[in-house]
Amino acid sequence: MKILLVEDSYIERRKLGAFLDDWGFEYQSVGSGTEAVKLLEAPDHPDLVLLDWLLPGLDGIDVLRRIRKLSRGTYVYTVMLTAKTHKKDRVTAMGAGADDYLSKPIDPTELRSRIVVGKRILELQQSLRFAATHDFLTNLLNRSEILVAMQREIVRGGREHNCMAIILADIDHFKRVNDTLGHAAGDEVLKEVARRLKVDLRPYDLVGRYGGEEFLILLPGCNLENGARRADTIRTLVCKDPVETPFGTASATMSMGVTAASAERKCSVSDFLREADLSLYEAKKKGRNRVEVFSHAAHSSAAGKA
Ligand code: GH3
Ligand code: MG
Ligand code: MG
Ligand code: MG
Repeated sequence: MKILLVEDSYIERRKLGAFLDDWGFEYQSVGSGTEAVKLLEAPDHPDLVLLDWLLPGLDGIDVLRRIRKLSRGTYVYTVMLTAKTHKKDRVTAMGAGADDYLSKPIDPTELRSRIVVGKRILELQQSLRFAATHDFLTNLLNRSEILVAMQREIVRGGREHNCMAIILADIDHFKRVNDTLGHAAGDEVLKEVARRLKVDLRPYDLVGRYGGEEFLILLPGCNLENGARRADTIRTLVCKDPVETPFGTASATMSMGVTAASAERKCSVSDFLREADLSLYEAKKKGRNRVEVFSHAAHSSAAGKA
């Protein structure tokens, strides 16, 4: 947990900073609301803010409103520190988005206990967020989250003139695993396949569980050709060794369909999914355990003939 201390009085900032140091918290301190907002709007923003009310430029209430206007999945816990003592001031601060409130002069024990509560709430928020965005069995991104990521990456790619390979991967004859070794063995295979899918990925690649035994992999910065090559590497990694489960050994191969977004192609999430799905279907038809790449020409002429 990273703490941000916003306090324009140098003496007060030093004093509170010394307490935070003593208690072993990681923190940063700034003397104005403007500097605070800059840090809070950054992607790796602080998690908990100790916020003075009266500040030069943007005051504490302005900073609170700016924090609450940011729509992102991560929460910022805020504790207002102020010499204002009226009850209606407290209501104003809470209404603007403060989670807690401490009157100056700050009692160190009170401050420490408020930080402990804030930390607990942040941890709870993080675990709820993980549960809401990840698949329970495989711990990969869940279907809605990988689709949100895909939309975001398409927009980003368009803005930055970057391409992105999209791989739809489906385990071959997975029903047989369930039928021969049981559903619990099937679950173990899904978990192991999910782990293998991630082995070759870079930090900014994304993988999610799209459906039962189907996975969606996004490779930002990869064109169709590189995407096909990477898909084949991933496919090889998945099928290299059989999967050992407590119920017996299963082989796991995958078929994959690959397409790619680029700055020149203005397609929607559903367009790309349809393309990847058509190619996946080709891979199944041609014998499974293989990668097929979407070809515009092939599919538009096929559509023309139909
Ligand atoms: P294909 O090669 O054509 O993809 O054949 P398949 O058997 O993999 O495909 P099919 O769609 O016939 O079967 C998918 C199976 O995946 C059926 C379903 O019961 C199983 N499945 C889906 N989700 C889970 C899960 O969470 N756990 C387990 N154990 N099985 C699952
Ligand atoms: Mg002040
Ligand atoms: Mg399937
Ligand atoms: Mg399958």
